[in-house]
Amino acid sequence: MSNALVKVLKFGGSSVGSVESLGRVVSIIKGETAACRPVVVVSALSGVTDLLVQLVDSADPETLIAKLAKRHIDMAEAVLDQRRRYTYLHTISGILEGLRDRCHRSADPFRTDGILATGELLSAPLVAGLLTQEGNVAQAIDARKLVVTRARDTGEDHEVDFVQTEIRIAAWFSDLSRFVLPIVTGYVASDEHGNTTVLGRGGSDYTASLFAAGINAAKFDRWTDVDGLYTADPNKVKGAGKFLFLLLEDASSWNESSALGMHAEAFTPVLEACIPVHVRSTRFPQGDGTLILPRLLPGRIERDSRRQLAHANHSIQDGPSIDKHLTSS
Ligand code: ASP
Ligand code: MG
Repeated sequence: MSNALVKVLKFGGSSVGSVESLGRVVSIIKGETAACRPVVVVSALSGVTDLLVQLVDSADPETLIAKLAKRHIDMAEAVLDQRRRYTYLHTISGILEGLRDRCHRSADPFRTDGILATGELLSAPLVAGLLTQEGNVAQAIDARKLVVTRARDTGEDHEVDFVQTEIRIAAWFSDLSRFVLPIVTGYVASDEHGNTTVLGRGGSDYTASLFAAGINAAKFDRWTDVDGLYTADPNKVKGAGKFLFLLLEDASSWNESSALGMHAEAFTPVLEACIPVHVRSTRFPQGDGTLILPRLLPGRIERDSRRQLAHANHSIQDGPSIDKHLTSS
């Protein structure tokens, strides 16, 4: 049964990469928290993973780490008040120390993964700090504890262990207070021995899709800076056509052949769980975007409304409860 009130909202690097776009993210999340219970997944700040890719083979890691630190400190100074800025700087100083240490461990087979994972570990507490400042009880969640990849010595694009991942995400979510707004790190995972791994470039969509399936969300909103999915990159190809609707089955198979330019596995978990995906633009939130619907949606809606009705009746018998308040709002 789906969690009808729960939505996964994923924000890509460009959405969290500037002060203006972070402001848009805050207002979108504010609107959503009034209507549903969101689970937010974030990418690294735009350009940060590219910088980390350079860092992997750099002969001068200190310069790049200093650049990385400055990018996040500047952002924190621009958006966080003094108290939250101190907390954030304290958090990232530990993460940057770990990164520095990793860079010097040339024999570590997980060195590359550990370096690449740093961007999301730095962005999630920034977004969580900002949302807490804005009146939410936001909490940065390190997805390495929840997304499990199969053990493998080297290379990126690790294969996800769906069963373990789903079990962990479902257990985490059922223990999470409904008053907490989780801000989950995209892209990062760990193998069954606890080594840090990453899901491949663009992997935050995959993370969001895994979370949507794991918590059985009603919907996965993929927020980006383009208003939907196009036949080609609209910034490069003039006259590229936009899809208003797509079948999840079609989107998934086109994406696997890299036609949509997203992570190849991005739709796999939501396809299996029949969860609709909505690709929307933070620059134009009132736009239609592209709605990607599973073939089985009518059946799902019926199931969901039956569940809501049963839930509401149950809450009425139980007297006033937070569940009743939420289902009837
Ligand atoms: N930060 C990672 C990347 O740039 C993952 C993502 O953004 O989805 O590839
Ligand atoms: Mg990115």
